[in-house]
Amino acid sequence: MKSRIVYGPILSRRLGRSLGVDVIKNTCSKKNCNYDCIYCQLGHVELKLRSPEDVKELVTSNEVLESFQKFYKDIEGLDYVTFSGTCEPSLNLSLGKMIRGVRKISGIPICVITNSSLVGREDVRKNLAQADLVVATLVSGNENTWRRIHRPAPGVDLQEIIEGLRELAKADSGRRLALEVMFLESETGEPLNSTDEEVESLIKTIRYICPDEIEVLTISRPPAEKWVKPISEERLREIAKRFVSEFGDEKVRLVLKGKKKKVMVLHRDLDEEVYALLLRRPCTFEQTWQGLSMNPESLRPVLEKLLGEGKIDKIGSETEEYYRAN
Ligand code: SF4
Repeated sequence: MKSRIVYGPILSRRLGRSLGVDVIKNTCSKKNCNYDCIYCQLGHVELKLRSPEDVKELVTSNEVLESFQKFYKDIEGLDYVTFSGTCEPSLNLSLGKMIRGVRKISGIPICVITNSSLVGREDVRKNLAQADLVVATLVSGNENTWRRIHRPAPGVDLQEIIEGLRELAKADSGRRLALEVMFLESETGEPLNSTDEEVESLIKTIRYICPDEIEVLTISRPPAEKWVKPISEERLREIAKRFVSEFGDEKVRLVLKGKKKKVMVLHRDLDEEVYALLLRRPCTFEQTWQGLSMNPESLRPVLEKLLGEGKIDKIGSETEEYYRAN
């Protein structure tokens, strides 16, 4: 089963109803990235890419626009088109052209979700600057902690990322920059980036970057490293409170695990849509039907079929069972 370049619609708290666009071909599979994050929900990275020039098979701008043109007309009420997928989207240097093309076709606001690794490069920044919303990861203002969590490819540098994010935030074009700050601890309870010292260092760094929004969260899906755990809701709330005292409550969003709004949509190929979702992130039964806005009763036979065909697997976390594409 081949995944689509364009997939969805998917519901999320932040973006409402969105279509996803994957700009790196499947030969650069879910296990390829220029980070190897200890919390990655897609497992371990087998081939760590050093730069956009390392990517062999990129999706072209024409492929994205053709696929988008066919797909989006049947789907009403979209809030966003989101460039994310199974690889880091900024590794494709045609990203800016794709964003402009999709906007011209649809007029729908565009979001890019990035791991921030390449934002120090001017060409990458120019591409990201085409979006209406950039959601960028920043887990620490401290080099050692940042390296420990992301395990980046050689040459990726935290200071360059911080400067790049600041430049992106500065550019006055109506675009919004949201920083996504994921807090973690180890199974022994050792904090990784959630000590008071780390939080204060992050605040200093974020103040320097000056983003429009800061999203505070912890992991909710099984991570690449089993010893990585979410921080407690109590600690997450404390950190969010500290962020609010610094940046104001209109800028800070605390993300807690919760239910999403139920909206039903028309589906064209449920097998493929379920597979495409699980290829991008492992989901529980509930997350799958909620994410695809589908009837839970219709999901069971699809999951059984995909399991029987060996296209997906069940994986367990401490408390829940997840489905993940093979
Ligand atoms: S979490 Fe994202 S940035 Fe980190 S390894 Fe996985 S895909 Fe790459």
